[in-house]
Amino acid sequence: MSASTGLPRPPGFPEKVRVVEVGTRDGFQAEAVWIPTETKIEVLNSLIDAGVPQFEATAFVSARAVPQLRDAAEVMAGVNRATSAKLTALVPNPKGAEAAAEAKVDAMVVFVSASESHNLKNLNRPRAETLAGFEEVCRIAKAADIPVEGAIATSFGCPFEGNVAIEEVVKIARIYRDLGLKRIALGDTTGMATPPLVTALCREVHEAVPDLEVALHFHNTRGIGLVNVYAGLAEGITSFESSIGGLGGCPFAPGATGNICTEDLVYLLHECGIETGIDLEKLCAVAQRVEEIVGRPLPGQVMKAGPRLRTSSMDAVATACG
Ligand code: ZN
Repeated sequence: MSASTGLPRPPGFPEKVRVVEVGTRDGFQAEAVWIPTETKIEVLNSLIDAGVPQFEATAFVSARAVPQLRDAAEVMAGVNRATSAKLTALVPNPKGAEAAAEAKVDAMVVFVSASESHNLKNLNRPRAETLAGFEEVCRIAKAADIPVEGAIATSFGCPFEGNVAIEEVVKIARIYRDLGLKRIALGDTTGMATPPLVTALCREVHEAVPDLEVALHFHNTRGIGLVNVYAGLAEGITSFESSIGGLGGCPFAPGATGNICTEDLVYLLHECGIETGIDLEKLCAVAQRVEEIVGRPLPGQVMKAGPRLRTSSMDAVATACG
């Protein structure tokens, strides 16, 4: 039942959704000013306290490529691990995998772009080479008894090539399945997803790899991120990735802007009668704190307006003169 209207969940929508917070990775990586390690840990711990069940907390990437995430190991060591919250990290190569294993991440996330040009820009090598490298990452992860998950960037379009054929995404999904992965995330790196495209891609990927859990990772670049979520919910998708306050953007994709905003997403889910296990009020408080940390207003809207039944006193505004 909806959080505030008492209306039933839309037909076909899932009962529960797993929200994955990616703000301290996808969001913070784009911040030019250094965010102290203890501040990153504070944000993660307050989000865990608000009930967020899963995080892409950081990335074990080269400090030269992404200086903001050079403290990945310290962040993982400082976060409260005594809860059921799952903390994953992006891992681009075997070196990253060794470091992630050492840091005892709950899962390693490998990633490749569906389009060749974006992969060349983002990872500086062709897709085939990136994919070949995952075997070694999976071997390292297996030895450490850590699961591997797969992300596919530019799944809904590429800033250099335009449309990306659904078949390209499906091909990578099959490779991930063959590597033994159980979960994949379809990334909309530069906000090129549209609801019909979400529907089509979800159906084709599900048909090709029915046993894989599919998560959707949207950016709100063109203002329809949550509409795309709604299209995904109608396809029965049960996991969405978002950033607190709507932080985010890919430094290797022109025009990339923030992820869909976690508290706006949670508001939508609760109003659709979908359980998340997250406390929306606490989430909004963290979003406001993150605005302070980055020193500018963030695009999140529910943190500003509050939930829909937050009413005002009639004395709070002037009465119209006419
Ligand atoms: Zn992203």
